[in-house]
Amino acid sequence: MDGRADAMLAELKRAGLKLTPQRMAIVRELAGDETHPTAQDLFERLRPAFPTMSFATVYNTLDALATHGLLRSIRLGTAVRFDPNTSSHHHAVCDACGVIVDLPADPPPARAHGFRVRTEERTYRGLCSRCC
Ligand SMILES: [Zn+2]
Ligand SMILES: [Zn+2]
Repeated sequence: MDGRADAMLAELKRAGLKLTPQRMAIVRELAGDETHPTAQDLFERLRPAFPTMSFATVYNTLDALATHGLLRSIRLGTAVRFDPNTSSHHHAVCDACGVIVDLPADPPPARAHGFRVRTEERTYRGLCSRCC
């Protein structure tokens, strides 16, 4: 996980953002997190360690990483969630407990009906292994 966190930090630096202790903590928290947290989730988790950190700091850091392709932002319902797994994959959402699971996906076709495909996102809904 450290390789991923280090790549994200290097990219933030290249983007001109100072690597403050808060930003580094946000990146390290997210890099190893496969639960697809929202900015609010990360904010609440880090607030005990950084009581003066603002929500905007968390959101802007995530936004900069997403802009540079270092994390995926996925919109599920009304919430935007962040995913450090940038390889091509789909998501399965449990209707009962809300857990989001990564599912492997074949690479999308390079072109479809004259449209140059960049990524493919698919969401499956159902019940996870603990709820069914
Ligand atoms: Zn479930
Ligand atoms: Zn994912």
